Amino acid sequence: MSTLEIRDLHVSIGDTEILKGVNLTINAGEKHALMGPNGTGKSTLSYVVAGHPDYEVTGGDILLDGESILEMDADERSRAGIFLAFQYPVAIPGVSVANFLRTALNSRMRAEDPESKGMPIPQFRRLLKAKMDLLKMDHKFAGRYLNDGFSGGEKKRAEILQMATLEPKMAFLDETDSGLDIDALRIVSEGVNTLMGDDLGVLVITHYQRILNYIQPDFVHIMLDGKIVESGGPELAEHLEEHGYELIREKHLA
Ligand code: ADP
Ligand code: MG
Repeated sequence: MSTLEIRDLHVSIGDTEILKGVNLTINAGEKHALMGPNGTGKSTLSYVVAGHPDYEVTGGDILLDGESILEMDADERSRAGIFLAFQYPVAIPGVSVANFLRTALNSRMRAEDPESKGMPIPQFRRLLKAKMDLLKMDHKFAGRYLNDGFSGGEKKRAEILQMATLEPKMAFLDETDSGLDIDALRIVSEGVNTLMGDDLGVLVITHYQRILNYIQPDFVHIMLDGKIVESGGPELAEHLEEHGYELIREKHLA
């Protein structure tokens, strides 16, 4: 069983400190929701855990099963079982969802074993079909060109399928760039509920306050101004739904 532990994490971009001491522990088998208004550092946290090179960790640590991952690059972290869906800002002409997933899977196999020839196509097709059936996805989706006119929901569908294929230990699922997209949130929560098990820990990131209508998290965390200021159970999301962020903001930023 895996554990991801984020300890007093401080992160800067250039001269600006964005994360100001984040503490968060996720165990396999747990579903966490990270909530907070726009611009508070939620996406930054997921990029930093995944190993995005633009962010500088100036303090604290990130441990996977007790070992620091700070010195690992993004590829190594992915191989170690940390998943953050690749963000493709533009469509990639001529690359289907299936091709993309097969490339991702094969590059991981080659990283583990330079002699590996990757997964034979028929075997990959069977794997992909099984995963799509599990997620109740139309098989046609695998033939679509990646992000070519994808809606927020379709981007999330590709993300969930990628997660199902790579079978990570810890998955970070951030909201779509377009922000509030109910269809996307529904697809993510259904996918997570299907894939959830004792070997997977999940952090779902959203600023949408009525998240409980979609995801039943075990733990809810609220981020304000680069820090997690409250952690609790689903009742915390209920409180937010009722009162918004104002009360919490007054309490912590006074
Ligand atoms: P959230 O996901 O909670 O909306 P972000 O993590 O995207 O917040 O952003 C947190 C803060 O960091 C914001 O003030 C944002 O402007 C700033 N920020 C994020 N990425 C960059 C970047 N690449 N360069 C400079 N500032 C950034
Ligand atoms: Mg964000």
